[in-house]
Amino acid sequence: MDHFPIFLDVQGRRITVSGGGEAALAKLRLLLKTTARITVFADDPCDDLRDLTGQGRIRLVERALEPGDAMCSSLFYAANDDDREDARVTALAQADGALTNWVDNLEASQFITPAIVDRDPVTIAIGTEGAAPVLARRIKADLEERLPASLGLLARIGKGFRKAADALPMGRKRRDFWAEYYFKTGPQALERNGADGLEPALHALLADHLDAAPRQGRVDLVGAGPGDPDLLTLKARRLLDEADVVIHDRLISPAILELVRREAVLIDAGKKGFGPAMKQDDICALMVEHAASGAQVVRLKSGDPGVYGRMDEELDALNAAGIAWGIVPGITSASAATAQIGQSMTKRDRNSALRFLTGHDMKGFAEHDWRGLARPGEVAAIYMGLRGARFIQGRLMMHGAAPDTAVTAVENASRPESRVIATTLGRLSADLERHALTGPAILLYGIAPRAAAQAAAALPPLQEELA
Ligand code: SAH
Repeated sequence: MDHFPIFLDVQGRRITVSGGGEAALAKLRLLLKTTARITVFADDPCDDLRDLTGQGRIRLVERALEPGDAMCSSLFYAANDDDREDARVTALAQADGALTNWVDNLEASQFITPAIVDRDPVTIAIGTEGAAPVLARRIKADLEERLPASLGLLARIGKGFRKAADALPMGRKRRDFWAEYYFKTGPQALERNGADGLEPALHALLADHLDAAPRQGRVDLVGAGPGDPDLLTLKARRLLDEADVVIHDRLISPAILELVRREAVLIDAGKKGFGPAMKQDDICALMVEHAASGAQVVRLKSGDPGVYGRMDEELDALNAAGIAWGIVPGITSASAATAQIGQSMTKRDRNSALRFLTGHDMKGFAEHDWRGLARPGEVAAIYMGLRGARFIQGRLMMHGAAPDTAVTAVENASRPESRVIATTLGRLSADLERHALTGPAILLYGIAPRAAAQAAAALPPLQEELA
């Protein structure tokens, strides 16, 4: 980030603009949204500029800028649409100590003006550091559409009520009050009784919240999906947005952790750091401790919490402590990985069943019904299968599985850095070693990527198969 966004207090301060044409006009229209004292220097102002300054908010000086004119200005805009003049006035304004912006000249500017969505006092500034003005405009248009025009009014009235709301204890209780005002009570009151309805609604709401019993702590076991934040459920997003405490696993991608409410306590239960990951008992104790003190806890797990997620141990601990809980399912890696290679998990005439297997369990490499799995047409999604790949391969082949059975390894499914390795049972461990996978990976036994499967079907059978 070369440009750090801040909101500058310009109340009663000077902002100076040099220029009398379109570029100056565009900036002045924006600047008029502020409470700054604005001065324009233009030796030949256009008619629109005269009209604008005629309204009394802007002081117009009908000559070119001279040394000392930008003295005491906090901001200065060079907007002459003339490189020589803009270079000259920028140098003068900098000598006068103002921060300067040369319109449409990023390199020569000390600050840039973002695209603005204005719901005063709610202001959203959008910047792309000059990389993509089209993008900024698009985001602005999106937000303009999404944010009701009444948002500013709600916020202005809300601001005046902050002192009264301090009667509520800081933290969760106060946040709940404001959330209900902005997203429910406020808009409803506005619709029913107009702006006059807002203050009475705030008073009634405050009385309700002062009376209400404190919210009970609880734990939601939430599936974060395979990593792509777009694959979170709406419910998961809402809970992340409301959480007081988030206890997450190692596999949760940074892009998803970004969505957690800023003030929430974020606990990494899968920290590898100096020792092994946090023990399961410690995780359970941590959840119980936070929820018992009234916190809304999200226990965030990769994929679906109910698939190799040790969810039952955590639910038992919560039950034993009498803590309320909920489960929010997520997209499991098997589902994300098959989608990524263009395949379905079950398919008519291919596999009517799909087994979920783990490559290892608490005792080491996991044993399974290898004989059953070795039969033609069997399909399995193998979690945590990388380390045990050679073992799995050996067991399956020993029980008669064909070496050319398709196996697809999908590493980091749904993430930008994802890799797909299409191989066969016979070559499985050699291929995995060769590609040295480091991210989480799932093995899809009995499924090839769609393109590869179609190409193979189109090929004439090999000679030895015919023989
Ligand atoms: N609850 C998770 C599974 C946890 S076990 C789920 O439903 O997906 C951890 C294993 O999940 C990893 O060893 C790997 O096999 C698999 N896994 C998790 N995220 C993955 C991803 N993005 N891509 C591929 N496999 C993944």
